[in-house]
Amino acid sequence: MTQPHAKSTVALVGAGPGNPDLLTLGALRALQAADVVVHDRLVGAAILDLIPETARRIDAGKEGFGPSTPQADIHAAMIDAARAGAFVVRLKAGDPGIFGRLEEELDALDAAGIPWTILPGLTAASAAAAALGQPLTARGRNGALTLLTAHDMQGFADQDWRALARPGAVAAIYMGKAAARFLQGRLMMHGAAPGTPVTLVENASRPEQRLHAATLATLPAAAAACAGPAVILCGLAPRAARAALPAIKEA
Ligand code: SAH
Repeated sequence: MTQPHAKSTVALVGAGPGNPDLLTLGALRALQAADVVVHDRLVGAAILDLIPETARRIDAGKEGFGPSTPQADIHAAMIDAARAGAFVVRLKAGDPGIFGRLEEELDALDAAGIPWTILPGLTAASAAAAALGQPLTARGRNGALTLLTAHDMQGFADQDWRALARPGAVAAIYMGKAAARFLQGRLMMHGAAPGTPVTLVENASRPEQRLHAATLATLPAAAAACAGPAVILCGLAPRAARAALPAIKEA
């Protein structure tokens, strides 16, 4: 098999949701070949353990809304190492192309004339749905899946709430914990039933994984109970809980 990164000096690699079993073989090979690994904090310890001792690690420290490494410093770290002849792995949680600021990093590498390649990864929503025992799309239920963030550069992100509030709609919401009340308000304002199932999956695929089965009505309380990174799956209940749902009274 050819090495997808043979001619590139930077590989932007998806680490998956944290369980090493969900890392691709390509990602593992890239890590093993890396001279320098620039990683986000959300990349789990079990994945970081796979980085060879010989590789230099740079913690790009992006974590929620806590202190984070300025994006320009991340660009400079990649570019400086690549110019010095290193094979650089830029390791990002999940899939690098989903809420990963990939375009900014590609722009910076292009501007510096540095060849790159992207190795996709398994996104958190896939692992979260698997934890529920639910498909993300199902015939007769939802023929579309929305991946959305509750935050953008201006604050809470606006979305097509009307479409998301329709019965059967499924949305995977990233970075949504702090926006739980906003999400609840927007969806209900556009007609979503308070009893709509909503499940938060915290630390999907990791040993600390926890499911918080809720409804739109109880979403803020469920979000407050989550300490780790979580995906909010709107419109999905854990498979075992489905039978019980029609009994939930709609306020
Ligand atoms: N590129 C990543 C997403 C980065 S945005 C991906 O494709 O998965 C960061 C958000 O991803 C977190 O706020 C959380 O909503 C989600 N996330 C990442 N890893 C997670 C995990 N193991 N369990 C639950 N949510 C996770």
